[in-house]
Formats: sequence, C-alpha cells, structure tokens
Amino acid sequence: MSMEWNRNLYERIRAAADRGAVHHALLLTGPKGSGKGELARFIAAAMECQAPQGRPCGVCPACRKVFDGIHPDVIAVRDEERKLLSVDTVRQVCADAYIRPNEGARKVYVFEDSGQLDGRCQDILLKTVEEGPRYAAFLFLSENAAAILPTIRSRCVELKLRGGEETEENGAMVDRAVELGDYLCQKREDVLAAYLCSLEGAKLKRTDLTAFLSAAAELCTQALLCQYGRHPAKIYEEMAEKLAKSLTKEQLAGIIEILRSDLDESAFNVGVGHMLGALAARLSAFLSASGRG
Ligand SMILES: [Zn+2]
Repeated sequence: MSMEWNRNLYERIRAAADRGAVHHALLLTGPKGSGKGELARFIAAAMECQAPQGRPCGVCPACRKVFDGIHPDVIAVRDEERKLLSVDTVRQVCADAYIRPNEGARKVYVFEDSGQLDGRCQDILLKTVEEGPRYAAFLFLSENAAAILPTIRSRCVELKLRGGEETEENGAMVDRAVELGDYLCQKREDVLAAYLCSLEGAKLKRTDLTAFLSAAAELCTQALLCQYGRHPAKIYEEMAEKLAKSLTKEQLAGIIEILRSDLDESAFNVGVGHMLGALAARLSAFLSASGRG
C-alpha cells in the first residue's frame, strides 16, 4: 500500500541513484504505517547496489543483504531498552563513520526513531553529518520533522511520506487536488475561487487541508516534471499531463510556491476557512498576473 502511495518518492530515489546523486543526509517523515522503514531500506539498497543502472536492482548480493537486513555497512541505530539514545552510542556512530565501509560503497546509518535523539546527541552528530567522509550517509526517520533540530534539518533533504493511518482521507484529498487541477487548466480565476470556497463549506479538518495542499503541490510538481520529459506518478498521471499542456513552467512553479507556503502556514494555528479564502485570493491574483494562456 505505502509503496503505491509514495511511488513518486521511490522514483525520485531511483533517478537520483542513477545519477549517483542520492543526498547523504535524508529526513524521512510520515505517520506511523506510512512505510518509512521500507523507504529507508530502499534508499540504503540504492546506495549499496552494484548494478550499473536501475539501482536498487533488488537482485545483486548487496541489494539482497540490505533487504534482508544483514548488510554490514547499513547500520540501524536504535535503543530498544531506553527512551533516548545515549551520548556514548552517538559518539560511537561518529567514530565509526570514519572507518571505511566493510564491503559496500557507502556506510549508511539509519536512525529508526529520530525522537530518540535529544538535542545534545544531535549536536554531537552535527559535525559528522556536515563534514564526515563522503561515503557516510544518514537517514533520519521521524513522524514529525520537528524532532530534528534546524541545524541538522538544514543539511537534510526531507522526504515526506503519505498514507499510513490517514490513507482513506488522503485519498479523498488527492481527488480534490485533481479537481483543483482541472480548474487551474481552465485558468478561470472566478471558478477556482468558488471551488476553494466550496471546500470551505465542506468543513475540512486541518489534517484534510494539509493533505489537500500537499496533494495539490505534488500534482503540480508532477506536471512540471512532465514538461521536462519525465513520466508522472500514476495517481496524478492524467491530470499532470493535462496541466503540463495548459500551463507554462513559470505558472506551475509559481503555483507550487503558493501551495507550499500555505502548507507551511497550515502547520500553525490558523483557521482552515481563513486559509482556503487566502489561497483562493493568492491563486487568482497569480493567475491573472501571469496572463491567460
Ligand atoms: Zn542491486
């Protein structure tokens, strides 16, 4: 299930792996059951895979070991006895990072529950994440990005997983995002505003709004990728292609920016109705300023 939902993340990792450009510090966030552990294994395999292309191939000895959880250079960092990781454990990780991999291309440290890292431990880790050897990689798994201090977070690329507990609601919000996409294609600001106001009437919860905004941003991102000749993720396929034909790259980029900034704002205590109204106003203003196709 999570594989299907988060397919675009898997595709992103594959594409980066083929360019040899998987970032060395990644923050994987998402609710329980959204498949953070699966994605982490996939990333570690992409880093260790011995195939020339299409990493992770899933069949080479390195991939097999990673997927079986027995690769000596993919190290799970956790403490099952205690709530927090000890300073000593974290210091050991930092020292170990300077010892070359046993057999793999990289050394991958997977912090399975980043909530186990308190501020002090994160401070200790920071230097190694920042300036450790090139082969060292760090995957931080967390339900919430806020578990990681901004100092480390700023070094990480964040991968947000959806699904898990909220799958059904998110599914409805994906449908709504696709509807929004249709109005964006028509470039009718008035219809768009009316649509967003109708959502206001639907009494969305804050989690719905967040899901809606991230689905809409994802849809537009997929449309933009489409314009660069990439194949969009399945759940957005049809609408992403339609948007790619109707809007320019600049328009799509502008809309994504608006949606993302609203997404950041939706984390704070602002009313859902107010957010939708403001979004309608910003999108309408942007569409009229950027001209009708
Ligand atoms: Zn492989």
